[in-house]
Amino acid sequence: MQVIIAGGGIGGLTAALALHARGIRATVYEQADEIRELGVGINTLPQAIAELAELGLLPALDAVAIRTHELIYLTRNGQEVWREPRGLHAGHPVPQFSIHRGRLQAVIREAVLQRLGPDAIRTGCRLGHFVEDEGGVSAWFFDRTGRRTAQARGEVLVGADGIHSAVRAALVPNEGPPRWNGLMLWRGARDWPAFLDGASMVVAGGLSAKAVCYPIAAGETERSRLTNWAVIGRIGEPGTEPPRREDWSRPGRWEDLAPHVSGFRVGAVDLGALMRATEPFWEYPMCDRDPLAVWTRGRVTLLGDAAHPMYPVGSNGASQAILDARALADALAAAEHPRQGLRAYERARREATAAIVLANREGGPEGVIDAVEALAPDGFADVEAVMPFPEREAIVRGRAGAAALRR
Ligand SMILES: Cc1cc2nc3c(=O)[nH]c(=O)nc-3n(C[C@H](O)[C@H](O)[C@H](O)COP(=O)(O)OP(=O)(O)OC[C@H]3O[C@@H](n4cnc5c(N)ncnc54)[C@H](O)[C@@H]3O)c2cc1C
Repeated sequence: MQVIIAGGGIGGLTAALALHARGIRATVYEQADEIRELGVGINTLPQAIAELAELGLLPALDAVAIRTHELIYLTRNGQEVWREPRGLHAGHPVPQFSIHRGRLQAVIREAVLQRLGPDAIRTGCRLGHFVEDEGGVSAWFFDRTGRRTAQARGEVLVGADGIHSAVRAALVPNEGPPRWNGLMLWRGARDWPAFLDGASMVVAGGLSAKAVCYPIAAGETERSRLTNWAVIGRIGEPGTEPPRREDWSRPGRWEDLAPHVSGFRVGAVDLGALMRATEPFWEYPMCDRDPLAVWTRGRVTLLGDAAHPMYPVGSNGASQAILDARALADALAAAEHPRQGLRAYERARREATAAIVLANREGGPEGVIDAVEALAPDGFADVEAVMPFPEREAIVRGRAGAAALRR
């Protein structure tokens, strides 16, 4: 079987590796002229790291990432709502990694090139259109100038081409642009003195005004870390168009970010100073799309952000794309016919990821901060008196549903 993968992000590249591990040939077509180490920090959950470990990538990841030790949720004013160990410290067999997105992508890409060969990733190839027939799928790819750069033939086409997926647009022609919730996410990373134990992730504030900070790699000195930060602030109304199109590589402007920086208290680190010292940093409007009722048609399917774009909360963006990749490879390897395999893949992943898209609209696990802030807007002496542990845990573990968040 030959699988055509449109999109060389974390989802597409992991799918190529996972398919190869099951004896299925795959070629990745990426629109960028070269794959550069773009983005800043992301967190990958142990469930996803377990899949990458099975693909033999744990040592390479360990060399460039931070093993996340602890997760701490604070109110905007710095009062602790939740604290839990993560990864190995929480009993998982593998770590949770805080990592630079570009470095995670580079580790997977290197493995693809080594194992599948140098022709397995074709850059400068933007999917233009595709046609399915009884025997397979044909796809045509173009460069920035519109010149045709490749034509591919395979048994399956996987759209791993992100939030603006061309494959999704072909499967769901009238869907329109992503949905914006009126919030902007600014994010950056720079070398900074280590805080707490040098491996902690801190989230302060609820969905409409939030700051996040965690180290993603060793620093320039033993006592510093490459430290990732993010701030979410409201700049528009839900359902309106964002001021600028969603683009993960768009530089942010200090005059836009500055009004949202003050007011966060994260005792362990001077967030304002860290942000002011970071140049450049990036902006991204918080966008997602409604879950699809179907994401497979015949021999064509979707994966990662193309299938289920979600707000980047709860460390799920890259993690869910990696889990999709594993499920796709398993399903195709077990199936008698590619169409049957894609249906099995969709059954394994569509509802599970749709639930995360919807939960993230309520803040995901971090919704517990919203819930506590709503009950005690002026702060508290004892969080237990505001919301007892079992109720906080139910939100963090995703068992409480939206109702609890609206209390
Ligand atoms: C440049 C960039 C920076 C990012 N930075 C962050 C970050 O800092 N923090 C964070 O939480 N998330 C970030 N993300 C998103 C995060 O990587 C994804 O949410 C997650 O990893 C799921 O990945 P994916 O492979 O499904 O999609 P993506 O990572 O979006 O990858 C999709 C890939 O498909 C390519 N592509 C798009 N259209 C076509 C086409 N028609 N033909 C061929 N190729 C196409 C894109 O160039 C891209 O490489 C970033 C994404 C990108 C593309």
